[in-house]
Amino acid sequence: MANTMPQSFSSVYGPVASWRYGRSLGIDPIGPVSACSFDCVYCQLGAIEDKTRDRRIFVPTSRILQDLRAFAVDNVDVISLSGSGEPTLALNLGEILSAIKGATGKPVGVLTNASLLADSAVRQELALADFVAAKVDAATDEHFRRVDRPVDGIEFAGIRRGLLSFRSEYHGQLAVQTMLLGRWPAREQAEYMAFIDELAPDEIQLCAPTRPRPLAHELDARGGRPGEPPAYAVRQLKPVDTRVVRDFAARIQRETRVPVRSPQT
Ligand code: SF4
Repeated sequence: MANTMPQSFSSVYGPVASWRYGRSLGIDPIGPVSACSFDCVYCQLGAIEDKTRDRRIFVPTSRILQDLRAFAVDNVDVISLSGSGEPTLALNLGEILSAIKGATGKPVGVLTNASLLADSAVRQELALADFVAAKVDAATDEHFRRVDRPVDGIEFAGIRRGLLSFRSEYHGQLAVQTMLLGRWPAREQAEYMAFIDELAPDEIQLCAPTRPRPLAHELDARGGRPGEPPAYAVRQLKPVDTRVVRDFAARIQRETRVPVRSPQT
């Protein structure tokens, strides 16, 4: 069953200027209540309201297609599923991807935290996307738990295995998105390099938090609006020295040969 949704809610938002993908129209398959299998310390949604790893239909595909009709897609570069939580929790993920591709003819991508990739059904549905950005914020379980704060039952080792399986099956563009909150210990950096070398993604998207974290879920925070002050209560995050990002980017490129893109370099 889908959540009850106010008529004022739109599952389509933007377009937003994405440093990764150009003009990106956002699709929110989760809805007005934020839902995720993580509760990342830097999350732009604020504290996650529904912490879960159970898949279900949050927003019916028909509602997404209906909301999409109010938007002109000619002037957007891509369409991205992200929004109010983890898109792979949506049980209709594959149906949404097929429907949007059919309706728009635009490249459609998914920004995911990769926590459900051990499930072959999720991998099959996600493989319908033209591009996927998968979150890897750590290289050890301890660091993963501290930064991404997953629900019970999700371990970093399972995410690694799921990503490796997805990489071997997927023919689209796979990016790894890594958020740095500071300089990582040498051992963790080495483990990350070994994993990236094995995974061989098409690129790494390396970031440090630049926007404050909302204290509560705000639909306006979907996609962010760089340069605009938020109109809701926030907590400032400790800034990360851009040299930390540059050094890490240089090491990744030197040791793995995977291209790195970052708004901070
Ligand atoms: S995975 Fe994404 S949506 Fe979920 S808590 Fe982390 S940043 Fe927020």
